[in-house]
Amino acid sequence: MTVDVEDDALFAGLDLIGRTGARQVEIGYLNEGVPVHLADWYCSAHYRGARIIVEHHRGPVEAVEAMVRRLLTGGRCTHCGGLTALSDDGATAYPGAHMADGTTWTLDEITAAGQCRYTRVSRKWVRGCEGRTPRERPGARGRRPKAKPKRRR
Ligand SMILES: [Zn+2]
Repeated sequence: MTVDVEDDALFAGLDLIGRTGARQVEIGYLNEGVPVHLADWYCSAHYRGARIIVEHHRGPVEAVEAMVRRLLTGGRCTHCGGLTALSDDGATAYPGAHMADGTTWTLDEITAAGQCRYTRVSRKWVRGCEGRTPRERPGARGRRPKAKPKRRR
């Protein structure tokens, strides 16, 4: 069984996992001699001192996309500091939740940080703030000023 890395979703996923600092990414399956969708696919990413794995997927693409979700959920965009979101439902943070970096946030902080919606454009995951002027990242204890209310016409 071979994995077609020319698949756009797979390529984009591996690219993103690489950008999160993974030293090694592994895509594999557990069951030999069965149809692809029954092979029980997994994806694991190795970081300095840590290994993240997502399991039980129907194919290599599904496994990689699950990893992308796992890595982005509860994380913050390294570029704009916003919470990463993968859908219009918004970021998955809630008050008191432990963020990917181990901190907890209040509702005010979550609202103030805004979100950065990642979308896959063919072979690349693109951050929502792509092309925007980078905002200053707050310090560990820094608070962002609240946004001014919009003026009504
Ligand atoms: Zn961003």
